[in-house]
Amino acid sequence: MHDLIIIGGGPAGLTAALYAARAGVKPLVLESLTCGGQTITTSEIENYPAVQKIEGWRFADDLRRQAESFGTDIRMEAVTGFAVQDDIKTVTTKKGSYEAKTVIIANGAKRRKLGCPGEEEYLGRGVSYCGVCDGNFFRGRTVCVIGGGNTALEDALYLAEICEKVYLIYRRGALRVQSIEADRVLAHEKIEILYSSLPEKIYGEGRVQGVTLQRTDGGESYDLAVDAVFVAIGMEPENEIFADVIELEDGYIKAGENCETNVPGVYAAGDTRTKHLRQIITAASDGAIAATAAAAYIRTM
Ligand code: NAP
Repeated sequence: MHDLIIIGGGPAGLTAALYAARAGVKPLVLESLTCGGQTITTSEIENYPAVQKIEGWRFADDLRRQAESFGTDIRMEAVTGFAVQDDIKTVTTKKGSYEAKTVIIANGAKRRKLGCPGEEEYLGRGVSYCGVCDGNFFRGRTVCVIGGGNTALEDALYLAEICEKVYLIYRRGALRVQSIEADRVLAHEKIEILYSSLPEKIYGEGRVQGVTLQRTDGGESYDLAVDAVFVAIGMEPENEIFADVIELEDGYIKAGENCETNVPGVYAAGDTRTKHLRQIITAASDGAIAATAAAAYIRTM
C-alpha cells in the first residue's frame, strides 16, 4: 500500500511530490507521457517569480530532476481506472493496480479540438496542436494559428520567428486578452490578425493547403492559403475515469483552494480542478497545498 499516489507529472503533480517527500511521505507519480505537462510545449516561460526567462523543456526537466532528487518514484504509466473502497484508493494502469492511502489527481487538461472537416484528416500533415513542437516543419512558410487566448498568442509569436507569415484567426472583433504578448502580437510585422473568422473547413491534397473561414459578423466565407493550421483554442479536462467517484463540475474536479474533493484523502491540483486562473504558479501552489493536506491526512489514519 502506497502512502500517496500522484496522477500526473506536470507542475502540480511534481510540486506535490516535492512537498510530500519533504514532509516524509514517499510519493509514487504516474505519468502517461512525459513529465512537465504543458510546460514542455511552451517555448519560453517568463512569468514565474524569480525566474527571468526559461525554455519550457528546461523548466520541465528541472521540475522532474528536483522531484527525483527528493526520492520521488516516477513511472510512465497511463492511468485507466480509479476506485475507492472504505479508506483504500485503487489506481489502475495498463500495467497493473496500485493501492494508496491518499491520491492527488493532477492530470491537467487536454487541447480542445475544432471539430471542423479536415482537422482529423490532416492531423500531422499540417494540422498541429503545438507550435513549439511542430513549427520547425514549416520554417519559411505561411501558417495560421486559430484562437485568441494566451496559448494562441504565444504560438503566433513563436512561429513568427521562423515562418514567413503568420495569420492569427480569431472569432471575435477584437482581442480580449490584455497582456505583453497581445501587445507584441499587435505590433509584429509578420503577424496579421483576421478577426471575426472561424474555420469552416481545412482543405488540401495530401497535406494542408488552406483553410476556409466563416465570417462571424455575417460576411461571406473566404479561403486562406496556408501550409499549416495550429489549433490553440483552449483546454478541456479529461476526468471521465473519476466521474463515478469524484464530483465534477463542467468536467473539472470540484475542489476549492484547499484542493479537497468530495472523497476524504483524494485531492485535485492544477488545471484539472475548478479554478479561476490556470497558470504554472497556481498549479504549483495547488501541488504544495494538496501534498501538505495529504501528509496530514495520512498522520490521522
Ligand atoms: P483560453 O484562454 O481558454 O483561450 C481559448 C481561445 O480560443 C479563446 O480566444 C477562445 O475565444 C478561442 N476558442 C475557444 N473555442 C473555440 C472554437 N471552438 N473555435 C474558435 N476559437 C475558439 O485557452 P489557452 O489560450 O489555451 O490558455 C489556457 C489557460 O492557460 C488560460 O488560463 C491561460 O491564461 C493559461 N496560459 C497562460 C500563459 C501565460 O501566462 N504565459 C500561456 C499560455 C496559457 P473567446 O475569446 O471568444 O472565448
